[in-house]
Amino acid sequence: MTNRIAVVTGATGGLGTAMCKALAAQGRAVVGTHLPGEEAQAKEWQAGLQQDGIEASVYPLDVTDFDGCKAFVAAVEKDLGPIDILVNNAGITNDAPLKRMQPEQWNQVINVNLTSMFNMCQQVFENMCERGFGRIVNISSLNGEKGQFGQCNYAATKAGIYGFTKSIAQEGARKGVTANSVSPGYIDTPMVRQVPEKVLNNIVAGIPVGHLGQPEDIARAVAYLTADEASFVTGTNMSVNGGQYMA
Ligand code: NAD
Repeated sequence: MTNRIAVVTGATGGLGTAMCKALAAQGRAVVGTHLPGEEAQAKEWQAGLQQDGIEASVYPLDVTDFDGCKAFVAAVEKDLGPIDILVNNAGITNDAPLKRMQPEQWNQVINVNLTSMFNMCQQVFENMCERGFGRIVNISSLNGEKGQFGQCNYAATKAGIYGFTKSIAQEGARKGVTANSVSPGYIDTPMVRQVPEKVLNNIVAGIPVGHLGQPEDIARAVAYLTADEASFVTGTNMSVNGGQYMA
């Protein structure tokens, strides 16, 4: 167990919180990010973790803002030290069938889910390579693997994550820096609970294990891929979906 610094973007969300807990349990110094303007919720989130004995730092960050990402990484490095682990978890949906999708909807989802990968990874990558250690995990989705009606924007970003991740995995391979993706299936989070009940029942019926996943299922995958010992695992995708899609 080392006190390596682990950053999780979109940390205050359903999956992010579970990831922060799992990383803290591995002895990581956890840094979460919240959306600018959500300071009060972020403080509450931090206090919730404190009740579990976890001292997490939390910073505002909009992952679509390249200069903001640069400033965020500089601030963390100044306050705490170099970033060893980066989990690009922030993500959104904004669904519509292709014929009704507006350019704004397309661009928003591309920026939050995909351009954010570049915005964040570029800030930490060289430093990780120079120090000879880094773990990057990019959160994709089952729907990036198989596509989904009404989600051409979301699925495109989540599929794009695979190409991005495999490319930087090759760039970091000889420097001790791994990059992998995790593709959650349907997990019991507020994002999924927004789905109308009838639709959700149909989704659950299509999951071979017969139930939704739990945030901890994804957090365990992240903990595994960011372990110091996981140095031989790079450029891969881990599907955590109850058997719903077997690539
Ligand atoms: P969530 O909505 O609870 O969390 C998403 C987080 O991203 C929130 O904290 C939000 O504030 C943050 N965020 C949104 N826009 C941002 C921006 N511009 N800058 C910085 N942060 C921003 O959702 P979740 O279910 O925890 O999802 C986390 C990740 O897992 C996402 O990438 C999502 O696509 C992916 N995922 C989730 C599921 C699921 O079943 N919940 C399934 C597949 C993939």
